[in-house]
Amino acid sequence: MAPPSSPPPPPTVSRPDWPVPTLKLRIDDLSHPGIKLFFDNVDPIRVMHDAAVAVFRWLYVTTDKAPKHVQSILLVLRPMDGVARPKEIHFACQHIVNCTDRCADEIRGVLVHEVVHCFQYNGQGACPGGLVEGVADWVRLCSGFVPPHWKPGGERWDAGYHVTAYFLQWLTERYGEGTVPEINELMRDAPYDEHIFKTVTGRKIGKLWKLYNEQLGGGGGGDGVVSTCSDPPET
Ligand SMILES: [Zn+2]
Repeated sequence: MAPPSSPPPPPTVSRPDWPVPTLKLRIDDLSHPGIKLFFDNVDPIRVMHDAAVAVFRWLYVTTDKAPKHVQSILLVLRPMDGVARPKEIHFACQHIVNCTDRCADEIRGVLVHEVVHCFQYNGQGACPGGLVEGVADWVRLCSGFVPPHWKPGGERWDAGYHVTAYFLQWLTERYGEGTVPEINELMRDAPYDEHIFKTVTGRKIGKLWKLYNEQLGGGGGGDGVVSTCSDPPET
């Protein structure tokens, strides 16, 4: 399969017709060293706007398909365990410090992942958590913010995060750019059913995972988790 760096760079040009919600920022501890790093490395409005546009571009493709129900997104920079949580996006200041040498890309990548949760469909709450997280990391992968520890492979297709993201990218290379947006769309108005993979690709999920692993040479891998997320958003 293609190397992880193959997707094109993220869109950075503002499209006035994308339904970008009101973007808000709250800082809970101004003295935390992660706050200075954040502002030294990214422009808050730009990075949140770009994250929203990346989700629309990769997951919804056209402006008419982009969800309009999200009124605002609040980014909270605060001391906390983990990295971030969806809906209100709570970003752990210490995580920025822990990634000092590459924190601009890490901030952008985490925010793209979390903004996906604000907009993605979840099969009326029945979508497996691994697929929810996999779609979020797939958009991050497409946007080019790939952490150094990510690599293709893993134990299960729904292991989540980058394991599922690379699998979704392989599906995209094999069945076309609309593959993941179609899977997402099929979870908009109906409960999740794994048959959606057969609807979109013509093959069952088990067969797809087998083919993927054959192509990888049966490789394992897939360690590590980038962000800790709680339940997907209710849409
Ligand atoms: Zn997540």
